[in-house]
Amino acid sequence: MTKSITFPSHIAALKPYIPGLPISDLARRTGLAEQSIAKLASNENPLGPSPKAFQALADAQLDISLYPDNDCATLVQAIADAHNVPADWIVVGAGSESLLATTVATVLEVGSKTAYAQYSFQAYVNAAQRIGALPIVVPSPDFIVDLDGLEAALAQEPGLVYIANPGNPTGTCVSPEALERFLRRVPSHIAVLLDEAYYEFLPQGQRLDSMALVRELPNLLVTRTFSKAYGLAGLRVGYGIAQPALAEMLRRARAPFTVTEAAQRAAAAALGDHAFLERTVQHNEDAKALLVHGLRERGLRVLESHTNFVLVQVGNGADLAKRLEPHGLIVRPVGSYGLADWVRISIGTDAQIERLVHALQVELP
Ligand SMILES: *Cc1c(COP(=O)(O)O)cnc(C)c1O
Repeated sequence: MTKSITFPSHIAALKPYIPGLPISDLARRTGLAEQSIAKLASNENPLGPSPKAFQALADAQLDISLYPDNDCATLVQAIADAHNVPADWIVVGAGSESLLATTVATVLEVGSKTAYAQYSFQAYVNAAQRIGALPIVVPSPDFIVDLDGLEAALAQEPGLVYIANPGNPTGTCVSPEALERFLRRVPSHIAVLLDEAYYEFLPQGQRLDSMALVRELPNLLVTRTFSKAYGLAGLRVGYGIAQPALAEMLRRARAPFTVTEAAQRAAAAALGDHAFLERTVQHNEDAKALLVHGLRERGLRVLESHTNFVLVQVGNGADLAKRLEPHGLIVRPVGSYGLADWVRISIGTDAQIERLVHALQVELP
């Protein structure tokens, strides 16, 4: 008898991460032209990348026979300058998802615990499960992270607490005052990963001064990404900021050479393109208002979003997503989050939103 591989039980129990449907996939199945398909499923920037990032790539004339700079020195310095922290407080990764994975692998081990809110980002949940950590899931009855619940969970001695603020797929955020109070109450031997993937979309009044807190709290890691507001999702680059003892351990634990030279160059250029960021955020605010209006006019429940997407209750999310496909519209079902009657819709261009609202009139009369 040939024996087969036995996988560790926490690996065998992994659920696949189901990304937004690729445009090419829908085009192949429907015969629609790729240009006519609107992907509103992965929270990408409808304005594209920063033109400065694009130009940096064109100017770089990269020699792709060479390995990238593993230290990402130029990009690290640009990030350090932008946040006014020393360079050794920065860790760069191939998307902030890779930093979530590096963090769990650095701080946790098989059988140790991690606490997070219900409806937390699946990539984090999977990363923690991959290394055999045990979840402590705090219910989110209002679709908002329950900080009191998370604080109560600290008694179970998790090694790592994860909070995305604003969260995905909910789009909701907690108040900066409440978040700061919580972060200060976490004992210093428990690490906290504050995922600020959508930070740039928060109105000023909702923004925690997380960099000031990193200076005070040695157990706090804040992550940001170039995938959302900066429009560089395809290049895979994100970063974390923490005090040097934690940051150094993360740099040691991360896989080498995962951030390409193209990603490093483009990200450094994008970081300095404040005008593009402003245009992105302004468009997002205006277009989100348009979309939310259109959805509420159909009588749908929409959660208040502080991101570049909205979570909408539609009846059967997977079914609606399927029915929108022939319209050339890709939205994201969120059944894997236990939200089978919702869909997540990214804020597209005005024209895409009009198409979507029109298609909903047909499909959800
Ligand atoms: C999109 C997203 C990320 C980042 O993704 P990367 O492309 O890997 O940087 C991180 N956290 C949350 C909550 C997200 O929605």
